[in-house]
Amino acid sequence: MDEYAPRPEIQCPFEKLFPSQLQRDDEFYMKLAYNQAIDAWRQDEVPVGAVIEYHGEVVAAAHNRVDATRDPTAHAEILALTQASNALGDWRLNECRLYVTKEPCPMCSGAAVMARLGEVIYATPDPKMGCLGGATALHDIPTLNHRVNVRGGVLETECTALIQAFFQRKRLEGN
Ligand SMILES: [Zn+2]
Repeated sequence: MDEYAPRPEIQCPFEKLFPSQLQRDDEFYMKLAYNQAIDAWRQDEVPVGAVIEYHGEVVAAAHNRVDATRDPTAHAEILALTQASNALGDWRLNECRLYVTKEPCPMCSGAAVMARLGEVIYATPDPKMGCLGGATALHDIPTLNHRVNVRGGVLETECTALIQAFFQRKRLEGN
């Protein structure tokens, strides 16, 4: 069986965003992450996208691929961390910022700490599973020898609408 057999694309009712290349601010990178989340939806994956910025350049862009790869670790953030490490030739990502459309889960929050990320910026808070201040705050464990800066709320309205609509649709479809 082909592990990565392409599946037919499904329609996403949301349009991609086209941020100006001239203003590389938080919203610029989060819009790219949002576009990744739309790609995830089109592949019937939970729409979460991630982008990693290093000195003003995008060194990683990924979306959730858990279903396609049948791999529970194939979250957008983990895939992006691997891309960025490969691009920079270093597993230490102190000077990188991770932009992700939803507050990271326990696994991805842990990976952000282990990668020594400089900063994580998320859009939608997740009080149930989020571990950068939502359900708990892994980055605030006092004994950790690396501090990850965390901010939330960038492009929150758009990213929240996207993921809520996806789950609403799934509930209507009954799966
Ligand atoms: Zn995760």
